[in-house]
Amino acid sequence: MAETKRDYYEVLGVSKTATDEEIKKAYRKLAKKYHPDANPDNREQAEIKFKELNEAYEVLSDKQKRSMYDQFGHNGPSGYSTGGFNGGFNGFEGFSGGAGFGDFDINDIFSSFFGGGNRRSSKNGPMRGRDIKVRAEVTFEEAAFGTTKEITINRDETCDVCHGSGCKPGTSTENCKVCNGTGQIRVTQNTILGSFTSVKTCDHCAGTGKVIANPCTSCKGRGTVRKQRKIKVKIPEGIDNGQIISLRGEGEPGLRGGPSGDLYITVSVKPHSIFTRKGDSIFCNVHISFAEAALGAIIDVPTLQGNTQYDLAEGTQTGSIFTLKGKGIRNVNGRGMGDLYFTVIVDVPKKLNKEQREILLEFAKANGEEFEVGKRKKFF
Ligand SMILES: [Zn+2]
Ligand SMILES: [Zn+2]
Repeated sequence: MAETKRDYYEVLGVSKTATDEEIKKAYRKLAKKYHPDANPDNREQAEIKFKELNEAYEVLSDKQKRSMYDQFGHNGPSGYSTGGFNGGFNGFEGFSGGAGFGDFDINDIFSSFFGGGNRRSSKNGPMRGRDIKVRAEVTFEEAAFGTTKEITINRDETCDVCHGSGCKPGTSTENCKVCNGTGQIRVTQNTILGSFTSVKTCDHCAGTGKVIANPCTSCKGRGTVRKQRKIKVKIPEGIDNGQIISLRGEGEPGLRGGPSGDLYITVSVKPHSIFTRKGDSIFCNVHISFAEAALGAIIDVPTLQGNTQYDLAEGTQTGSIFTLKGKGIRNVNGRGMGDLYFTVIVDVPKKLNKEQREILLEFAKANGEEFEVGKRKKFF
């Protein structure tokens, strides 16, 4: 699947800073335009456009997904789900070809927005579990080089005793007596205008048509129990503060056979004592003496891999910035290495002993400076 995908913002015709309302508006307008039913002469083309539109909306209308898309784009860190990550979790989910967005029923989405259609009541159907959102704190180095973190989450898990049925072992659900197992009850109202019959969801069984006669004592018939889980999370090399790792299926369990939600881990990177970071580049200051600046010197420069030596030319001015190519942070999407930039700060000695003072006065004299200690040089 080497097709190039259009930018989601472009698909919706909105700016990158568009508000939720603007996105919704743009979507409604275009959905009407491209809905296959509205394009009987060009159904196939419309369907492709419509799918693309829905995919874009699916992502941009969801705060979490939008922020991931903004950070990682279409392909983004999806590479991690096959390469760097292995074991029981899925790592990053890209938006391209991800199972979550590909297959949806066009009419379903359409009817949910414009009414009509025969959208099935979701009360009886499978329901996806909720997503869980947590933060994970890592050090600057852990973010730069990658690590594995154990995080603790509380989530519902299938009850071990009843295996999720909610029934005491050896028993099973029974048909609801109120609705005779249909999940619906007919209500007939007699009014002066005649009698009206309407159908409503059975309250007794919540529309499922089944009741638990003997609830499991462990989960009290819920089928799930709250558990504390420790989950190992692979923090990929190069991840930055605020970026999100998603573990598919590690959220709350679904209902009635629905899929589990996802676990979203927002990475919080602790500040470093020496370095700051912008993208894949890192920055630091290196202090040198006046003599080193004037005469030139081989100085030690800190890097994430330890000190390295740098040959400083004579006459280096304070504030000069030098680059160590490839000594930054590896791009989280595998697009090369960032650089290290260091700013040279020339330290002026705060205290001089007698000898230093004399030498410096000699130096000033040799420099042709008229100098009187204790008096400031006058400027005209
Ligand atoms: Zn149980
Ligand atoms: Zn019932």
